[in-house]
Amino acid sequence: MKATDLDLRRVFSFSPKGGTIQFMGHRALIIDALAMGLLRKELIDNLGTFSARNILTRMGYAHGWATADNLDKEYPELLQDGQCGPTLHMLQGVVNVAKCEMTFEPSFRMSICWQDSYEADQHLLHEGIAHNPVCWTLAGYVSGYCSRMLKQEVYCLETQCSATGSAVCLSETRTREDWGEKIEEHLPFFRSDTINSMLHEVTEKLVNTEKHLKMQRILLDRDLGCCGLAVKSKVMRKALDLAKRIAKVESSVVITGESGVGKERIARIIHSESSRALRPFVAINCSAVTETLLESEFFGHARGAFTGANRDRIGLFEAANGGTLFLDEVGEISPGMQAKLLRVLQEKEIRRVGENSSRPVDVRIISATNRDLGNEVSAGRFREDLYYRLCIFELVVPALRERQEDILLLARCFLDKSTQKIGKEIIGFQPEVTDRLIQYEWPGNVRQLENTIEHAVVLCQGKRIGLDDLPKAVRSAQGGGIVANAIRKIDDLEREQILAAIKLLDGDKTEAAKQLGISLSSLYQKLKRYQTLPL
Ligand SMILES: [Zn+2]
Repeated sequence: MKATDLDLRRVFSFSPKGGTIQFMGHRALIIDALAMGLLRKELIDNLGTFSARNILTRMGYAHGWATADNLDKEYPELLQDGQCGPTLHMLQGVVNVAKCEMTFEPSFRMSICWQDSYEADQHLLHEGIAHNPVCWTLAGYVSGYCSRMLKQEVYCLETQCSATGSAVCLSETRTREDWGEKIEEHLPFFRSDTINSMLHEVTEKLVNTEKHLKMQRILLDRDLGCCGLAVKSKVMRKALDLAKRIAKVESSVVITGESGVGKERIARIIHSESSRALRPFVAINCSAVTETLLESEFFGHARGAFTGANRDRIGLFEAANGGTLFLDEVGEISPGMQAKLLRVLQEKEIRRVGENSSRPVDVRIISATNRDLGNEVSAGRFREDLYYRLCIFELVVPALRERQEDILLLARCFLDKSTQKIGKEIIGFQPEVTDRLIQYEWPGNVRQLENTIEHAVVLCQGKRIGLDDLPKAVRSAQGGGIVANAIRKIDDLEREQILAAIKLLDGDKTEAAKQLGISLSSLYQKLKRYQTLPL
């Protein structure tokens, strides 16, 4: 019998009951080409081209190997007839083998011309024109079939494919030795560990990203716990509430407020509460960069665009792609840069300095200013059209003196932060210090308060910050009687909490300290102090 004698009646048998079909004695399936095409598309979309090619090549390889193996069992005399492989491939409906030339001496080589590849058709249908050959299951099939037939490693590579616009698909098949180095880059597609190692790599990356995000979250929470979220005042709570609501929409925001009120922290809250939270948050202080540098800082530059541009560099817009770009001191941008910024916001694409083509960017802009942008517009220093682009929402962060209720809470947080950083054990403030902190105007706002506490912690030699530890400007502020009561209240609250915890735990001070998150020694110190306070 010859390869040409193989026909459908010989290779297929149908169970009289229906439900099963045999192809050369082994169960086979008839699957719609479109369904296979959809599976292929899903693999590409979900795993990427590399992994999809790997899976489909291996599936084709298994198919080819099994076909040769079955042929060896059913018609052993036909296995060495090189034309059997192409014939069976055609009988399976995969492709039309228009031509197949093969030599065995000096080594095995086969050139195939395919027409009507179902795989190229499906690729064109779902993915459009391809840039590289895509008949991965076909090449896998030939590789598997020939490897089984010759009992050595044989690889088929497609050199031309109708999915790229050619009339037909062409492939070359050789043994591994014969291919030499050329085959190396294609071997990963035939290996089973490729997917595993890729998945492993992806999993590792995900775990790292998760760790990184958790760390960022902790840092942010710690930061915000001190400086933003742990607020008592109504005005600040209102501002935070607005920030969280603005986070849910994509509109641009201008955050206004005096220097040091924490505008960037608010911007970070908006970012971290938005759908862009997992993408980058990039911040720039526009006043800190000269106009000439600002353009390349924003948009990046091509190598050689100007003196000193030794290599291509991406700008902040590209770095923030998919995420949020925070423009601090946006009121300081020159008219020239204002025009360029406006164009980017309108067209949603940037052009690197020294390049002719544009690149799309998707960035949410949050700006901040301590100027009154409305006034700047009236005075002709800020473009009105840019103002309306940037300022869909305005969020005002109140000055620290407008939210006195928050001062001690913040001071306490900064004290914890500084003592930890510097490694001192300072348990609080002397009453006259808390008076001063509340009375003081804080022109530098939260930032000034933070610096003041750090300054005091460095100087402090006792267990409590004294007046002498404060910077002179703060020290000279006037105190007041109401404040002493406020402090007393806070101390009372703390005492109540600690005593309640000890009572609840049947006097177990070690456990109480653990649950309260303080050290045992500081628990004892506090208890000692309470004995001197009136109950
Ligand atoms: Zn092809």
